[in-house]
Amino acid sequence: MSDFLNRNLNLLKQATDTAGISPKVLNKLLTHDNIVEIDLTVAGKHIKGHRVQHNNTLGPYKGGLRYHADVTVEEMKALSLLMTIKNAVIDVPFGGGKGGIAIDPKTLSEEELEEMTREFTRQLTPFIGPKTDIPAPDVNTNSKIMGWIEDEYSKAVSFPSPAVVTGKDVAHGGSEGRTEATGYGGVYALLSILKKLNKNPQDMTVAVQGFGNVGHYLIEELQKSGFKVVAVSDSKGGIYVPSGIPETPLLAQCKKEKGMLAGCYCVGSVCDISNKEKLNGQDITPSEILELPVDILVPSALENVINSENADKIQASIILEMANGPTTGDADAILNKKNTLIIPDILANSGGVAVSYFEWYQNLNNEKWGKDEVLKKLKEKMEKAADTVFEAHEKYNVSLRQAAFIVALQRIQEGKK
Ligand code: GLU
Repeated sequence: MSDFLNRNLNLLKQATDTAGISPKVLNKLLTHDNIVEIDLTVAGKHIKGHRVQHNNTLGPYKGGLRYHADVTVEEMKALSLLMTIKNAVIDVPFGGGKGGIAIDPKTLSEEELEEMTREFTRQLTPFIGPKTDIPAPDVNTNSKIMGWIEDEYSKAVSFPSPAVVTGKDVAHGGSEGRTEATGYGGVYALLSILKKLNKNPQDMTVAVQGFGNVGHYLIEELQKSGFKVVAVSDSKGGIYVPSGIPETPLLAQCKKEKGMLAGCYCVGSVCDISNKEKLNGQDITPSEILELPVDILVPSALENVINSENADKIQASIILEMANGPTTGDADAILNKKNTLIIPDILANSGGVAVSYFEWYQNLNNEKWGKDEVLKKLKEKMEKAADTVFEAHEKYNVSLRQAAFIVALQRIQEGKK
């Protein structure tokens, strides 16, 4: 069994003991309800896709769909379990699921990507639906891909079914604010926790590993809230500017033009390596960014990046986990011993699924909410979840991660009655 799955099963067991949850609830969560395996032929190659449905005590299975070469069924099992916990923590009426296809989508043409997605959906149709299992974007998937899923599913059931999938384009039944939701939501959770700690965001320094959709909007909201973002990286490398990096639109534009963040030193409207000296900037690798002398570290890319090899070298006193599972079990123990406060993935990145819930709700009720309304509701949900987890952290004297598991288990136990 993979370390990733094992560590989450252990967290479940610990939380059950600490909070006196019934063994019946635990036993149900230690197994997965359904594991759907799908064979695909893409660009002449045979590959596997999976949808793992973990638990539906609180509502339909819900969770993302990722396209990545490292996708395995064990990883999907761990991530679907995390979705069950995450959905209970953020208090949406969903269970947990996760799916993926073991392919690097960058190796496919747009036509191949679309055909693969449509074939996957055709085979998945008996297992998904607005009231059974609702996929969403995850690593390397986006609103366009969600649109193909909606279209193919609707054709198969001969009925327009926008609520079968979330994270769609706003023009095609998506919700305002869904694109920003995970990143903004992470900042709302962080601000709530800092308030509890009597810490002021003004001039707290932040390093962000990952500049995809999540990292981008997270940085935007961090800067708006007064944090000083000093470093950012993507999979190819990044920049470290101790005096603070400029506004995100410039960075995003530069990354788009160059295809990478490295060298995006912006002064005025010009982003170029020639500005590096002027800014006292330093080029950094995606792993070096984790060890910088900052107040807050945000892993916002893939899992297991904080592990036993680098945990001791992490200088940040707060880690905001925007990726799913970025910290290994060993690293978690080392960091807890060092008193590093980890705001866990199941709380920090739950803004995405919170707005997925709003989208699903709007689809089913034929409503259309404005962006301000969505973000206001998101903020309320994130603050409430952060407060509840923080209370459990103090009450049971456990880490925020264990506290989040406790809150989730209590809700699942309640929901069972
Ligand atoms: N993939 C996101 C996550 O891991 C969103 C899932 C959803 O919206 O269903 O939370």
